[in-house]
Amino acid sequence: MNDKLEALVALQDLDLMIREAKDPQCATQEEELGFPLGGVDKLERARERMAKQIDERLLQTYERMSRRFTRVIVPVEGKVCLGCFMGLPTSGRRNIAPGTVENCENCGRILYRP
Ligand SMILES: [Zn+2]
Repeated sequence: MNDKLEALVALQDLDLMIREAKDPQCATQEEELGFPLGGVDKLERARERMAKQIDERLLQTYERMSRRFTRVIVPVEGKVCLGCFMGLPTSGRRNIAPGTVENCENCGRILYRP
């Protein structure tokens, strides 16, 4: 998988953690798990640092799509997009140039191959 996408996957993980940490239903759980207070701040700072490593255009695409999808960047398993669980008919037969970002033809999510 290319570095760009790896950073974006890490960013998405942080976003999901921040979202969970901010969810009031998870607040008690957070305490039970023994996370220090102010954990969200830490996550947000880490997210900022991560965002700087990501290509601006790719980040913009991600931000735009994250309003629609909980997970914007999803793995491909075999020839199936794990975002919408639809087969990708042409994917895998095409040669993907290094550094090119591939989108699901069905749902438009950003794909990566773990
Ligand atoms: Zn899809």
